[in-house]
Amino acid sequence: MSMTDRDVIVVGAGPAGATAAAALAQKGYDVLLMDRHEFPRDKTCGDAVPAGAIELLWRLGMQDKIAQSVARGELYPVEGMLLVSPRGHELHAKFSHGVQGSDSYVAPRIYFDALIQEHAVASGAEFCVGQAKAPIVENGKVVGVTVQGNGRTQNIRARLVIGADGVTSAIARNLRPKTEQHNDSHRAVALRAYIEDIEELPGEVEFYLYKEILPGYAWIFPTGNNRANIGLGMRLDHFRKKKYSLENMLQDFLKMPAIKKRLLRGGQLRDIATWQLNFGSQKNLQHVFDGAILVGDAAGFINPLTGGGIHNSLVSADLAAQVADEALKANDISRARMQVYERLCHEHMWESMRNSFWMQRTFMHFPFLVDFLVRRMKENSQLAQTFLTKL
Ligand SMILES: Cc1cc2nc3c(=O)[nH]c(=O)nc-3n(C[C@H](O)[C@H](O)[C@H](O)COP(=O)(O)OP(=O)(O)OC[C@H]3O[C@@H](n4cnc5c(N)ncnc54)[C@H](O)[C@@H]3O)c2cc1C
Repeated sequence: MSMTDRDVIVVGAGPAGATAAAALAQKGYDVLLMDRHEFPRDKTCGDAVPAGAIELLWRLGMQDKIAQSVARGELYPVEGMLLVSPRGHELHAKFSHGVQGSDSYVAPRIYFDALIQEHAVASGAEFCVGQAKAPIVENGKVVGVTVQGNGRTQNIRARLVIGADGVTSAIARNLRPKTEQHNDSHRAVALRAYIEDIEELPGEVEFYLYKEILPGYAWIFPTGNNRANIGLGMRLDHFRKKKYSLENMLQDFLKMPAIKKRLLRGGQLRDIATWQLNFGSQKNLQHVFDGAILVGDAAGFINPLTGGGIHNSLVSADLAAQVADEALKANDISRARMQVYERLCHEHMWESMRNSFWMQRTFMHFPFLVDFLVRRMKENSQLAQTFLTKL
């Protein structure tokens, strides 16, 4: 690991960190991209990547890499979704393509994240394995990161630190006041597994809303050849109150007659893992500090209804790179200068966060309301499209 001072250290090489690192390296900055894991690595996720996220990666120069990954069968194109209500009403809806014609994918993160991390390196960022312990703060300003790696601890200094280290971010935890962390009603917990033997609905991601899981849902996201990413998630305050076991809930889901009859060899699961989600619906969280910016899950930009966070991670990384570029050029990386990032994130994401949070709080607690809504959307495809695009 190099000891040299850097323009930028990006902590965390998931979609948010790798995107920010690629964008800033392409602008000519000396960027150190650090992750506690070697790549490729798994990340617990449903792996659903919407068309808008793919277009953002195209803009970063990844169109060929993505096409090659699709050709290798790593990313599985999806055209639409099936939503199943508590009483079994089914809504099929088509996804819109991106503005430039991109598709949506189920993209296992072991492949997807490595593509972006490789692209960051190809763009000029240096990658290293190391675990950030805390930001280095001098006179109230972040000036680097304390890192553990190769059995030693060292300080790496940089003009700007980008915290992209996910839900358990050491950067956010140390910089945000204790009273300003995510609370349980804006967090969720979810379990993901891969299933090897489920008769798939080709090109369709499936969402199941039923009494025991509301205000969360269970999903089956196909990856091709009768394999799928399967899982379920719940809001954390509910989960704690009900004291459920997510593993048992997944087994119960697999026993539902509609699912059980599709299991070709009894339901063979692998790589079962749980992880947390921080929603972007909590107000007034600080994302910018003197010398540091938070992006992706480290900031907390997951949609509170769908649980989707990859697109917002890329959006926030892209905005952070633009703001960082201006600030570095002006040699002013103060909070006052970079606060525009918080305003831009609000402009790009808040409406959908607010609507989704409202839907989650009003409809998702009541099975009969979910049934009503799904029935109405079935009868009125325009309503379904409006619903899908407003989230
Ligand atoms: C079960 C589950 C299902 C989900 N399903 C979907 C879905 O289908 N579609 C969707 O869009 N979103 C989904 N999400 C949300 C999505 O996974 C996240 O929003 C997304 O991964 C955020 O990307 P990120 O780069 O901000 O963080 P991450 O992907 O978490 O990347 C953070 C990186 O930081 C590294 N890191 C962490 N701490 C340190 C440290 N101290 N030092 C150095 N490195 C560190 C990690 O190793 C990791 O590589 C799901 C989440 C969960 C938990």
